This record gives sequence, C-alpha cells and structure tokens, in this order.
Amino acid sequence: MAKNKNIELTGRIVVPGDPQYNSARQEFNTFFNKFPFVIVFAQKTKDVVNAVLWARKNKVPIRMRSGRHNYEGLSVENAGIVIDVSEMTQLEVDRKSGNVTIGTGWRNLDLTQTLWPERLVVPTGVCPTPGIAGLTLGGGHSAQARTWGLTQDHLFELEMVDANGRVICANANDHSDLFWASCGGGGGNFGICTSFRFQAHRIDTVGYAEIAWNLNDLKTVLSVWQEYTLPEADNRLTPFLFMSKGVQPNLFMQAIFLGPSRELRMLLEPILRAGSPLNVTIEEIPWIEAANLLYAHSPSTPISFKSVGPYVYDLLPDKALTIIERFINEQPPNTDTSVFFHGLNGAVADVPNQATAYYFRKALSNMSLFATWSRPEGAAAGIRWVELFRRAILPYTRGVYVNTPDLSIRNWPEEYYAGNFERLTKVKAKYDPKDVFHYPQSIPPAGKLPTRLD
Ligand SMILES: Cc1cc2nc3c(=O)[nH]c(=O)nc-3n(C[C@H](O)[C@H](O)[C@H](O)COP(=O)(O)OP(=O)(O)OC[C@H]3O[C@@H](n4cnc5c(N)ncnc54)[C@H](O)[C@@H]3O)c2cc1C
Repeated sequence: MAKNKNIELTGRIVVPGDPQYNSARQEFNTFFNKFPFVIVFAQKTKDVVNAVLWARKNKVPIRMRSGRHNYEGLSVENAGIVIDVSEMTQLEVDRKSGNVTIGTGWRNLDLTQTLWPERLVVPTGVCPTPGIAGLTLGGGHSAQARTWGLTQDHLFELEMVDANGRVICANANDHSDLFWASCGGGGGNFGICTSFRFQAHRIDTVGYAEIAWNLNDLKTVLSVWQEYTLPEADNRLTPFLFMSKGVQPNLFMQAIFLGPSRELRMLLEPILRAGSPLNVTIEEIPWIEAANLLYAHSPSTPISFKSVGPYVYDLLPDKALTIIERFINEQPPNTDTSVFFHGLNGAVADVPNQATAYYFRKALSNMSLFATWSRPEGAAAGIRWVELFRRAILPYTRGVYVNTPDLSIRNWPEEYYAGNFERLTKVKAKYDPKDVFHYPQSIPPAGKLPTRLD
C-alpha cells in the first residue's frame, strides 16, 4: 500500500444526491437496484490508482465496472465504491500490423463500428452493448468463434491496476501468470484493467444467413443445427440459433461465414431441408451490415432478466431436445423466455483447456437460458423457469460460462473453472493476497475457501 495519507479521488465523481447518481448506479440488468457510496468514472489510469488507494485507506469495498452487463449485478455494491472505466475509450490502431490498443471502456458495437473503416475487426460478441472488459476477461464468445476463436484469444497484452495501486503490464512474458488468469478467469478478480492490446483481423464482406421456422420444427432443426458445431464441420461458419414461444420469429438461425455465399448456400443445404423454413436469406454483405443484423436481434437497452449459460459438449440426444421443447413451450406468465445457442468449437477448441484460464474449450456450443419480464410479477416465475431448466438439462451439459454468473450455482468453482480453479487461486494469492477484490463467487486466494452462498 502507498504511504500517502491524503489520497483524493480523481476523475468524474458521482455521489448520492448528484443529478446523475441514479443513472450512474444503474446496471443493464434492471432487476438489481443498488446504492453505491461513490462512483468514479476514471478518465485515465491514475484515476483508477487513486480510487483503489482511497478505497483501501477508507475501507470501502471495491467493485469495478466497464459495460455494466454482469448478470447478477455484481459490478455495483451497496455503500461501496464503483471504479468505472467506461469513459476510458482511447484507441490506437497500427494499420500495418493490425494491432489495436484500447481503453477498457469500449463496447462491442462502438468498437466494431470504429474499426470498420480500417477493414479490421476484433471478434467480440453478438450483442451490441456489453463492455470489452468483462467480455474479454471471461472469454468472449465471438461472432467468428469457430473461425478465429474467443475475444481473449486476440488479446496479447493488458494494463491492470492491482490491489496496492500498482500499474502492471501483463503479457506472455511479463506477469505471464496474471495474463494467463486474465484470459478466462472472469472480471473483477485480480485488478482493474485499464487497457488492452489486441491483434485484429482484416475483414471485408462476409457470408450471412438468416433462416426462420415455426416452433413446431424445433427438434428437427436443432438436431441438424448442432451438426454445424462438430469439430469436423466447416469452421468458416459460426452458427447461432434462437428459440422462444413469445418472441417472433419463434425459431431463428443466423450465421456468419468467412467465405463466399455460394459455398455458404451449399453448406446450409441440410438445414434448409429441416422442417419447413418460412424465410431464408443467404447473401454476401459487408461485415458491418452483418454485425448490425446480429445486433438487431439482441437486447440493447436495460431490462430485468435472469439467465445462465451452460455448455453443450456432445450432440444433444432426443431426450434433451424434448426437455428443451417442453421448457420453450411452457412459458410462465408475465415473462418472455428464450434459449440462444452460440456455436463454438472450431478455433476455440484448437487451444488446450489449460493454456488459458478459459477451460471449456472443447464445448460444441453455449446455451443461454433467458427469462425477462417488464412487470415485477414476472420475476419469480422467470427466475424459477431458468433454475428448473438449468437443472433439467444438467445431464446433457458440462460447465457454465463464467460470463453468465448465476448465484444459485453452489459448486461454482467446478462449474466455471473446472481444472483451472486451483491455479487461479494461486494467481489470486500472488496478486491480491488480502482478497481486496472480493464479491460473491469471486476467486479466493489459495488456502481460503470459496464463498458458499447457501
Ligand atoms: C444482453 C447481453 C448479451 C451478451 N452477449 C454476449 C455474447 O455475445 N458473447 C459473450 O461472450 N458474452 C455475452 N454476454 C455476457 C457478457 O460477456 C458478460 O455479461 C460480461 O461480463 C459483460 O461485461 P461488462 O463489462 O459489460 O460488464 P460489467 O458488469 O461492467 O463487468 C462484468 C464483470 O467484469 C468485471 N470488470 C468490469 N470492468 C473491469 C475491468 N476494467 N477490469 C477488471 N474487471 C472488470 C466486473 O467487476 C464484473 O465482475 C452478454 C450479456 C448480456 C447481458
């Protein structure tokens, strides 16, 4: 800890009573309603350093925040300090090498749009608004996952402020243990990241597909869809599948293909024969248009929700498809429920499970169970639907995406980290031995038991 006794908070400071306080404390998941003591919108790394030192001197619990999308509202704490990096949006692009250095305040949509004139892309998620910090630190299921891998697979250096207010640069050579842990260990555990250096890809036009069906075709379509996530399937294609009783279209596939649309059409022949497609679009379009079409089908304004994302490791058998069909058709009152499959494997699986902290490399897909409601009456039913569904599908899934935290999961170290948990606790003990960066389900320092929430 620095000896300085007169640490002042710097940056844009918001406290209770300020006109901006209510909007500044709000998470994307409006189910949570927390009241921090102070929110610091850092403008530069020094503001983050000052905030950490101030919080430790004044014994105020710390939460860090970028895009506010944490599923359980864990980037804000009652009576705590929120160190928010969302206004740190510096950007440097080296056109020759494709290296992109950014502040950790960027969101998917803005980064994609800003890099497009350079015909570059850092593969991020399929939703417009999540922050690059939380997304990358937990893995980053990208729109080109099967071709190019996770968002974190493009990260080669980061800057972080640790629990003592030290600024650390981590990469494969320096602080390589911290870099390993930051690639999949999940946000909020080791320190506050202030900048990332990514290797971007060149991109221009892409193959894009959209196919809609009636919900009656769910089992037939899903059983063919999952073939596109197998290791031997063409990894130029990253497919997505959305299903819901209450949202139109009920059963909807999108896909990004890094190749010509003629080949994409041939590749999609099996799924075009599944069920009775209602609408089919297969085209070659500029990447930015395809990205916007993906974003258009995702929530982009704050909502109340419960969600969790288990991994699918093997082709789902008929029994599992029946469970999914049953839950989709049994939508509880006052909620909208849905399932979203994000195709993985391919390039994600080319990296060994222990090479980074992201363990579930060999999964075929990630399955997001999602309930949302606009009236409070929907909350209990929506939360229960997600929990019952997660339990029912357990025999057919393995592990849960750390970026979809669910506080009802008891054995979360195994579920989020499996064989990488112990090593993560050792990195925690080295960089944050006093567990300053602590929250429900945060990684404990080695020797300290994980938080039980029951
Ligand atoms: C609508 C929606 C769509 C989504 N779509 C996708 C998708 O397509 N692909 C995918 O992979 N994921 C997706 N996610 C999940 C998303 O990756 C996680 O919610 C992620 O944690 C969001 O990061 P954030 O910065 O927006 O959230 P925040 O709530 O700001 O942070 C998330 C976690 O990271 C920590 N954190 C934040 N900033 C920092 C920092 N600077 N340094 C260290 N730790 C930090 C926080 O303390 C918290 O623990 C989606 C989520 C939602 C709600």
